[in-house]
Amino acid sequence: MEDTPIFPDPPVVTVERTLAIIKPDAVHRADEVMEDIKSLEFSILNQRRLRLTPEQASDFYAEHYGKMFFPSLIAYMQSADIIALVLAKRDAIQEWRDLLGPTNAVRAKQEAPDSLRAKYGHDQTRNGLHGSDSYHTAEREIRFMFSESITEPIYHGQDATDYLQSKVNPVLTKALTHLSKQKPEDPLTWLAQWLLDNNPNKPKVTEVDT
Ligand code: ADP
Ligand code: MG
Repeated sequence: MEDTPIFPDPPVVTVERTLAIIKPDAVHRADEVMEDIKSLEFSILNQRRLRLTPEQASDFYAEHYGKMFFPSLIAYMQSADIIALVLAKRDAIQEWRDLLGPTNAVRAKQEAPDSLRAKYGHDQTRNGLHGSDSYHTAEREIRFMFSESITEPIYHGQDATDYLQSKVNPVLTKALTHLSKQKPEDPLTWLAQWLLDNNPNKPKVTEVDT
């Protein structure tokens, strides 16, 4: 009885995360950018406003070290606050890149007038917005900007099903079975306490003061 799965398999979804940055030349229009992001149906998982040091800016753009535009890129990126955003959506990485348009905002205005860089950017360097260019870049850039947040990749499809079935469902099934027997007045608090008491990952030893 206790082994009967209560939860159906999760649906297969391929939600991706990507890192967007509202760069210094667009930060005064941040509200408008956020409105655009929401109307394009991206979820904003995390956001922070920060000022990069020259070292951080160089680190973030390390792949361009040595190129002619590198010094002006670093000067620009640390010239004012930026807003880093973790966006989530199905195929978020490619979709956000497509919405940005060409890297050079002058070209964007000519060739892709509806693109976000046409709207918010100014020139080759000051192009308003950033977007990660691949899955691995996105993970690295999210970790760079949000080092305190959990940045493990999101499981997809069968991996997500396997993960929930092996790590979550057995414990939750047991908890909910006990809960239905006990019928506590405040089931959520009861459940929270039960999970704390029965956490299979609880440390086996407790620290003692020396
Ligand atoms: P993207 O941001 O589209 O991924 P890149 O990774 O090639 O573009 O370049 C990073 C940033 O460096 C650009 O967003 C832009 O701010 C700046 N940049 C790129 N190429 C040039 C260039 N040729 N001249 C001046 N600045 C540039
Ligand atoms: Mg790039």
